[in-house]
Amino acid sequence: MKKYWKYGALSLALLLSACGHETPPPSGKIPVVASFGAMEILTKEIGGDLVQIDSMVPAGMEPHDFEPRTKDLLKIKNARLFVYNGMGMEHWADKVLSSASHDNLIIVEASKGIQPIPIVSEEERAEHGNYDPHTWLGLSEAKEEARAIRDGLISASPDNRETFEKNYTRFSTEIDEIRNKARKSIAVARRKELVTGHAAFAYLARDLNLSQESVEDAFATGEPPARKLIELMEYCKARKVKTIFTEEIMDPALARTLAEEAGARIETLDTMETADHERYADVMRENVRKIVEAVK
Ligand SMILES: [Zn+2]
Repeated sequence: MKKYWKYGALSLALLLSACGHETPPPSGKIPVVASFGAMEILTKEIGGDLVQIDSMVPAGMEPHDFEPRTKDLLKIKNARLFVYNGMGMEHWADKVLSSASHDNLIIVEASKGIQPIPIVSEEERAEHGNYDPHTWLGLSEAKEEARAIRDGLISASPDNRETFEKNYTRFSTEIDEIRNKARKSIAVARRKELVTGHAAFAYLARDLNLSQESVEDAFATGEPPARKLIELMEYCKARKVKTIFTEEIMDPALARTLAEEAGARIETLDTMETADHERYADVMRENVRKIVEAVK
C-alpha cells in the first residue's frame, strides 16, 4: 500500500523567494503551507481564493512515511501560516518548526482541543504514538479543525475576517447535514461495527455511534499471509461481516476469496491523506454513504 513519489527539480523561483519571507507572493494571496492533503483541503474550504497553499507532503505520497528534507523547510520560511493536524500525525512537525519557524509565521495545530482516542494495539502504538492521529476524519472533529484554521487565517489577514467566517459557516452547515442524516440512519441500523483495513476511522466511528474494528494487520503488507487470510475469513464469518473497508482495492484475488468464502466484500473509503483538489464534504458524503449502506 506504500506509494512512492520522486522529487522534481525545485524551481529557482522558490529558492529565490525563500530569501525574503516578508514579501507577499506576487498573487497577493496569503501564503500557506499545509502539512498534507487533508489539511490542504480543509484550509482551502476556509481560505478559498484568498490563500495560496503549498503542501509539505506532496500529493500522492503517504504522509505516515514522509521525511522532510532541507529544501522542504524553505516552504515554511516563506509562509505566513503553517497548518498541521498534530496528534502525532506529522512526527516531523516539531523538528521542522524548530528550525524553520519565524516571527511572521502563524502556526495552526488543527487537532488541538479534540478529545484524543488512545490506540489500543501495541504494534500500532509503536508506529503512530499513543493516540490515533486521524482526527480530521471525524465530522465533528473536522469542524473543530476548520474553526482552528479559520482563526489562524483571521490572525494572518484580519481584513478578510468576514469571508473566512462566512466560509466556515457554510462548511459547518454542510457537515452538520451529512452527520445528522448519517446518525439518523445508523440509529436504526442492524450493525454497529465499522470494519476497516487501515484503522483511520475511529473518530468518524465515535461521531456516528459506531465502533471501529480494525483488521489492519491482515492488510499491512499488501498480500496477507495465508494464516492471516484464514483468520480474516473466520472473523468475517463469525461476526457476519459483510463489508471490509480499505483505502483502495488491493489484491483482486484476496477480494474474490473473501467474497466466495465469507460472503464479505471489500469497499473503499477515502482518508484524504494523499488526495488533493477535492472538497471535504464531497469526499465525506461518499464515505458516509458507503458506511451507512454497510451497516444497514
Ligand atoms: Zn493514516
